[in-house]
Amino acid sequence: MTDTSAENSHVTGKYASVHAGFVPKHREYYENPARYYVDPFRIAGNLYYIGDRQVCSHLIDTGEGLIMFDSGFPHSAHLLVQAIWQLGFDPKDIRYLIHSHGHFDHFGAWLEFRTLYGCQIVMSRVDHERISANPALALMEYSPTPYARIIEPDILLDDGSRIELGNTSIECKLAPGHTEGTMAFFFDIKDEGRSYRVGYFGGIGFLSLYRDYLKKYGIERDMQQTMNQTVRNLRREHVDITIGNHPDHNDTLGKRAQMIENPDENPFIDSETWPRMLDGIDRRLAECQEQGW
Ligand SMILES: [Zn+2]
Repeated sequence: MTDTSAENSHVTGKYASVHAGFVPKHREYYENPARYYVDPFRIAGNLYYIGDRQVCSHLIDTGEGLIMFDSGFPHSAHLLVQAIWQLGFDPKDIRYLIHSHGHFDHFGAWLEFRTLYGCQIVMSRVDHERISANPALALMEYSPTPYARIIEPDILLDDGSRIELGNTSIECKLAPGHTEGTMAFFFDIKDEGRSYRVGYFGGIGFLSLYRDYLKKYGIERDMQQTMNQTVRNLRREHVDITIGNHPDHNDTLGKRAQMIENPDENPFIDSETWPRMLDGIDRRLAECQEQGW
């Protein structure tokens, strides 16, 4: 781990405390990621959870190959591979590996997946441009390994792009705020004969919205205002199943525990989760504005 304390000594305010706490908060996960393994499970229909306790990844079985969302931190690729095999799938069947946004904890293992399994790497054009021009924007300074690197994706997404494979058609929308190129994804799945709309807001953390963060990285755009507009746009979407970018965004693990407790009900099928998540972002934005963070 590089000591970044000197170069960040000018960092102040709310961002400073989140920044200083990031690596200590993740230390145990960095030292022994397998302790954070989650037995993979079917959320509904052909949609599966393959992430760990720190960061989400999901798999869709389209009938003509697999689509995966997010390749996680760079030090825990083996957990994803283990989860995919445990579900009975072969990682060689991944056709598209789609990334939610350009931070290392979501694209960390993309090179491993492309090299080992030949999948097409997908990311938003905007985030690819930003992190290519300034790799620090991918938050590499928090990475537990030096292996995270920025590669050239195979497919770049714009607002309105679609990824289609087998029975699945994913609508991709630009949802900036957390990063300038964060995407939201919407697609339908079928479960026991009924159709459900899945929504994935691919980045809602506040670390990258604080003014001191924006100043440090030379971002002139008001990202709190941008996030505010994105939340307004996403409120128009009806979502039956909300999947998370980190497990706390949709209470992935709490819902999984409920599922095991009561197999007759599926807590992931809940159209209230989406607006509740957006309300939570609005509350935190208001707090940021009040406190001048
Ligand atoms: Zn992020």
